Amino acid sequence: MPFRRSSGENRMLSSLLGRFLMPAFANVLPRIGETERAALESGTVGFEGCFFEGKADFARLAAIPGEQLTGAEQAFIDERVTELCDMLDDFAIDEAHDLPAEVWRFLREHRFFGMIIPRAYGGLEFSHAAHAAVVTRIASVNLAAAVTVMVPNSLGPAELLVHYGTEAQKNHYLPRLARGEDLPCFALTSPYAGSDAAAIPDIGVLTRREWNGVMTEGFALTFSKRYITLAPVASVVGLAFNAIDPGLSGGTQQLGITCALIPVPHPGISIGARHRPMNSAFMNGPVQGEDVFIPLDWVIGGSQNIGKGWRMLMECLAAGRALSLPALGAALQQTSLYVASGYAGLRNQFGLPIQRFHNIARPLAEIAADLYATDSARRLTASTLDQGERPSVASAIVKYHLTEAARRAINHGMDILGGKAICAGPSNLLSIAYRHAPIAITVEGANILTRALIIFGQGAVRCHPYVLREIHAVEQHDARRSAMPSSDMPAI
Ligand SMILES: Cc1cc2nc3c(=O)[nH]c(=O)nc-3n(C[C@H](O)[C@H](O)[C@H](O)COP(=O)(O)OP(=O)(O)OC[C@H]3O[C@@H](n4cnc5c(N)ncnc54)[C@H](O)[C@@H]3O)c2cc1C
Repeated sequence: MPFRRSSGENRMLSSLLGRFLMPAFANVLPRIGETERAALESGTVGFEGCFFEGKADFARLAAIPGEQLTGAEQAFIDERVTELCDMLDDFAIDEAHDLPAEVWRFLREHRFFGMIIPRAYGGLEFSHAAHAAVVTRIASVNLAAAVTVMVPNSLGPAELLVHYGTEAQKNHYLPRLARGEDLPCFALTSPYAGSDAAAIPDIGVLTRREWNGVMTEGFALTFSKRYITLAPVASVVGLAFNAIDPGLSGGTQQLGITCALIPVPHPGISIGARHRPMNSAFMNGPVQGEDVFIPLDWVIGGSQNIGKGWRMLMECLAAGRALSLPALGAALQQTSLYVASGYAGLRNQFGLPIQRFHNIARPLAEIAADLYATDSARRLTASTLDQGERPSVASAIVKYHLTEAARRAINHGMDILGGKAICAGPSNLLSIAYRHAPIAITVEGANILTRALIIFGQGAVRCHPYVLREIHAVEQHDARRSAMPSSDMPAI
């Protein structure tokens, strides 16, 4: 009979090992900064955690309820979204580099910019699944319109306000954002800090200045941001900066990344000429500021949230990363499948429709299989969000895989259409999508970084039953804590 240790013996052995190894581990463990800690600890771990533990728990997977839309959400998709899609001429929008005025009006009138805003503030208060379904449907017709709708509903002012705003900020901004009277953008990354967004050099120095005739405490901001979606048409800029207290006698103090809302135009802020991301029609541009004074009550959540911006952003991204870009990824795959399979049935070569050639049927089947698998993962993750999860690692998994599958699908589609996909014009149904695929790959965490740092790096630490707890134990020099099985430990 094989020798088995009891759980008490196991615990004693691991406790001894823990005490013995802790000093060595403490020596090699790099110091974890506040920004890394916020990124590592953000969000929750759901079903995906069991893969990193090496134990796939399919009963847990089966227990996750499927995506469910309410009657109002389904009616919005069937009526408003269909009406919107009928107004979108992909080629004409691409040529005009803007959405038609009546589309902008329609989006505002029907509260497309307020899907995540609670009804109490005039928004639609849609579930995550419904919001993603709307973006997917629009993107399958025109990506520029989808991006325009997506940004105010994803990481940005509305989302941050809903979770962290003061009552005064919510009462002022949320109804205006829901009605589209205010159009937001959110400026985090800068020319020197893209993937490494916590390294932004943009600063806000704590100071007092006269504001509306009264001496007021606030920040003097100097910043330079680029690639900011909707900036050229924004009336309120969400801004992330490093807050600094010059501490007249006690020395300079770094207060940490802070998020504020700034109505524009505002003295000192300039929104530069439009960038043209892959020549797309959605609005994108740089935002700069030089010695811009803002009062403290423009900080999202007020002065108590100074320095908490990074954690706020990481928490919101933990959920949001599962929605917008994966929705675009699903739409790009649908477009490619629809266009390429239709064309392959119509186009004859060698006396046969080209779909009869195995080497055309194979990439078509690959697009379909990829779409089925990745879209199931996307819907599942959206539904876990509606159950209250904020799955940071699962979000990164679906962001990465949906956008990579989209790029593969578009490439296959281009091959199948041959010359038809190469020459630009209203009857080329893939070239605009082809230009957009790299945008989805790059934003909200460029894919190489997403795979390396979030899926595998954060996944291995966050989803592992012990690693994060061991790190905490070593930081606190607590050998007893390091030896505890996760079930006995207090939540972190
Ligand atoms: C169209 C568009 C819209 C955007 N909208 C906004 C917006 O509204 N608001 C905003 O704040 N920002 C926005 N951005 C900025 C976007 O978030 C950044 O472009 C993105 O984070 C990547 O940064 P970067 O372009 O500087 O690339 P870099 O950070 O220079 O990365 C270059 C390459 O290196 C890889 N890489 C970097 N670090 C690592 C690592 N540690 N391990 C492995 N690989 C790594 C990346 O994956 C990438 O492949 C937008 C960008 C674009 C193109």
